[in-house]
Amino acid sequence: MNTKEESEIILIGGGIMSLTLATFLKELDPTRSITIYEALEDIATESSMAWNNAGTGHQALCELNYTPRRKDGSIDIAKSLVINQQFELSKEFWAYCVEQEILQNPSSFINNIPHISFVLDNNVEFLKARFDALTTCPFYKNMIFTQDRDEIAEFAPLLMQGRDTSQNLALTLMKSGSDVDFGAITRGLCRSLQKNGVNVFTQHKVTDLKKQDAYWELTIKDKASGSIKKAKARFVFIGAGGGAFPLLQKSGIRESRGYAGFPVNGLWLVCKNQEVINLHSTKVYGKASVGDPPMSVPHLDTRFIDGNKELMFGPFASFNTRFLKSGSLLDFPLSVRFDNLLPMIQAGLDNISLTTYLIKQVFLSKSGRVERLRSFFPQAQSEDWEVQVAGQRVQIIKKDSSGRGSLQFGTEVIASQDGTLSAILGASPGASTSVDIILEILESCFSKEMALPQWQEKIAQMVPSYRNTLEENIARFNELRSKPANTLGLVFESI
Ligand SMILES: Cc1cc2nc3c(=O)[nH]c(=O)nc-3n(C[C@H](O)[C@H](O)[C@H](O)COP(=O)(O)OP(=O)(O)OC[C@H]3O[C@@H](n4cnc5c(N)ncnc54)[C@H](O)[C@@H]3O)c2cc1C
Repeated sequence: MNTKEESEIILIGGGIMSLTLATFLKELDPTRSITIYEALEDIATESSMAWNNAGTGHQALCELNYTPRRKDGSIDIAKSLVINQQFELSKEFWAYCVEQEILQNPSSFINNIPHISFVLDNNVEFLKARFDALTTCPFYKNMIFTQDRDEIAEFAPLLMQGRDTSQNLALTLMKSGSDVDFGAITRGLCRSLQKNGVNVFTQHKVTDLKKQDAYWELTIKDKASGSIKKAKARFVFIGAGGGAFPLLQKSGIRESRGYAGFPVNGLWLVCKNQEVINLHSTKVYGKASVGDPPMSVPHLDTRFIDGNKELMFGPFASFNTRFLKSGSLLDFPLSVRFDNLLPMIQAGLDNISLTTYLIKQVFLSKSGRVERLRSFFPQAQSEDWEVQVAGQRVQIIKKDSSGRGSLQFGTEVIASQDGTLSAILGASPGASTSVDIILEILESCFSKEMALPQWQEKIAQMVPSYRNTLEENIARFNELRSKPANTLGLVFESI
């Protein structure tokens, strides 16, 4: 059956999702043969690359869209607790990787950056209610709420320089927030996997995949030589980021029907003035205006990229029809099918405010973007900031419970019924929750192996709080907190 290349497992795409899944599989069963195909010249150059995403360790510390108001006015914290715990799983896995020397030097990929939510005027009451609701849970017990202008200036000086004194302000701060270089993690995992016999082919674009009996047959274009080759595998993971959607359609699996993808690209304002960069050391999130989508909240972020401290504001949403930054303008039109046309139209009609928002964003000039930045940093000077293109997100459109097409802002795992193929669609909270997402894939597609005692033992070593209830995680969290800060479980809590 050997056509040219053959593996038990093929992963399409060299981003954080594929490399995380490959690492889990190699740790759980070192005998498995695994091959990764990446279309570009290097891995981690699309969404997982540091400059293409915001590097927030999404832990629902400051992102206000994870704590919506209920109809009765109270704050719903359920989603924030889930996301908080999903990020803990990622930290546990990365800590395991450091302990096993799969990843080196934690500060090259994760750094402690306090997370702040900052609001004005009529949002102050919402922030206080959110603070009261979240601090009922021990995960958030160190959250600080303040309206004191001097204290706010101490935490985030840029927010207060030249600030209108008539504005009513409030801030919450969690010191334990993180900035993550997902690209550095991806590259670190890749190096280790290659040492352990995983084949990684760059400049290899998967152009088609078909199920033939027990195998998936992939058609792959070697972009360096122009040759076409075939490869076979029993299990295929489509971790192709925005490129996953067309490949999933080509796979023809029933579970892919009715899905559509809607591309939204991003832009940053990147600070070039070192004095300004040095004055800020937090990630500051605001509140989206009523009716605007979650991506409409640019944030003012300190980042650590390649050992340098950076400052960026964004992402500003924009629109083009590519599914990948390196993709084609035909990606979106070619994805329209008989089975997803109606859901797309319905989602379009139900999201007129998003369309209006995107049109406004597309026509925003640099000065318009700097004006938006001034709501965070009133004294921002246009000449200190450069516009830079961020990564591309593909939001999912799928049928809701009533059968109507609806636009989703989360990440979705698709798995074929026979468990031989899986794909990830969607965007936020994305890379931060990569470990939780990969565990979901293992549960769907490797369910027999996941029930084996040796896999269960290994999983417990890699992600100790996996499968715990919220109450168990709270107990474990309190226990870890009481141990010395150099305990491995607290490696990333303490930085
Ligand atoms: C503007 C922006 C801000 C974000 N901010 C955050 C954040 O703050 N925190 C967070 O957790 N997440 C954030 N995300 C989301 C996060 O970046 C993604 O969830 C994550 O990087 C997705 O990883 P991936 O491996 O699925 O995709 P990618 O990293 O995009 O990797 C997919 C790879 O597949 C390759 N590929 C595509 N098609 C093919 C093919 N046919 N054959 C072979 N290879 C192929 C691509 O070249 C690419 O290298 C952000 C995303 C964007 C765009």
